[in-house]
Amino acid sequence: MSEAVVIVGAGHAGVQAAASLRDEGFTGRITLIDAQPHRPYQRPPLSKAFMKGEATPDSLMLRGPDFYAHRHIDLRLGAPAARIDRAARRLVLADGEQLAYEHLILATGAKARPFAAPGVDLEGIEILRTLDDAAALRERLQSARQVVVIGAGFIGLEFAAVAAALGHHATVIDIAGRVMGRAVSPVISAAFEAKHRSMGSTLLMGAGVAEFIGAEGRVASVRLTDGRELAADLVLVGVGVIPDDALARDAGLAIDNGVAVDDHLLTSDPDISAIGDAASFPDPRGLGRIRLESVQNAVDQARCVARRLAGKPAPYDAIPWFWSDQADYKLQIAGLPFGVEDYVTRGDPASGRFSAFGVKDDRVVVVESINKPADHMAARRFLGLAPLSRAQAMDESYDLKAHAARSFRAE
Ligand code: FAD
Repeated sequence: MSEAVVIVGAGHAGVQAAASLRDEGFTGRITLIDAQPHRPYQRPPLSKAFMKGEATPDSLMLRGPDFYAHRHIDLRLGAPAARIDRAARRLVLADGEQLAYEHLILATGAKARPFAAPGVDLEGIEILRTLDDAAALRERLQSARQVVVIGAGFIGLEFAAVAAALGHHATVIDIAGRVMGRAVSPVISAAFEAKHRSMGSTLLMGAGVAEFIGAEGRVASVRLTDGRELAADLVLVGVGVIPDDALARDAGLAIDNGVAVDDHLLTSDPDISAIGDAASFPDPRGLGRIRLESVQNAVDQARCVARRLAGKPAPYDAIPWFWSDQADYKLQIAGLPFGVEDYVTRGDPASGRFSAFGVKDDRVVVVESINKPADHMAARRFLGLAPLSRAQAMDESYDLKAHAARSFRAE
């Protein structure tokens, strides 16, 4: 087992890697570093409870204040890593300090995808990735009158739902034809579109941004490519993220939509692993190289690497799952939608409680649920273990829980 593990990035993946190493009995030195000054925190609430004013920075912390000292994890905050000296197996921090490693774990996450439009640097145009971003956005939201959200993905829509709940009118703009179009089925998109409209938000789908227009340095309106102009004093740009692979790239590691790792999450250097939002890995179901942006993926990949470093190597093969909360709709997704031919719906979409089962080759490969946690939990168990057929999915009397229990016993 390695004697000194250095972890870059104290987000969901990095913190879990440190914790799991100790859980696995690792007794060597663990150094966990992050460029940010804040004690490691959860990101999902930033666009949900925290944005609504229902959570404080303290309540977001991933672990209690004593956790790191108790587990002998040397947590260094406000400490950006500048480069990796692979030949000497040293991580060089921006202040010049060098940390020797036997194994290095890159858990550097992702950053907001830059949005290129004239005027994008005007005051009042924000992004949402970090606690500081969220605090600034929350502050501005209080006095905003016209809120515009660019991007109808998870973060843009979660923010729009909070803005609407707080009494603001939000306009969501997206070049795509439907909300969350790359991630969910048309029936789920339609349900969320109806939900957002019922809350008073305006959704402009198939609309592009031409420029942001300012007055005295502050954003005043957004001009669309079709010539329409929307008044705006607060704009959230939520057009996705890009992997933060700068350290790996500069060190000459293989890059392919993020830091490229093998099925054991090792990079092209056997002394370096990469996990979480930053890493692209070969999908165990043969879907090719993928990169996922979810807490589940970050946490499960961290556990996988910790087990390997503890002498119990196994390929990464967790079932992906994800959630998003928008108003009173809780979306839960298990599996991945790649190659889905069509969707079978269980439950009535009008009731606000239903699931869409994505079918490929007569086999359910993804289950998207709104306010149906039992379907989601069953799917997380049966996907990958006991195939559910189209006919079984279509038969609403077919017991998913029992099917999942059978697959569990077969494990
Ligand atoms: P991150 O959490 O991004 O952590 C990476 C860390 O690395 C950062 O703290 C960064 O400062 C640090 N770092 C990077 N480079 C360096 C360097 N050179 N030196 C030192 N430190 C460095 N997922 C869900 O599953 N469900 C949700 O509902 C959900 N909601 C979300 C809402 C918001 C607003 C956001 C932003 C994300 C949400 N996500 C959600 C996604 C989820 O938070 C990410 O998938 C998860 O945080 C990935 O964890 P990570 O550790 O890989 O990366």
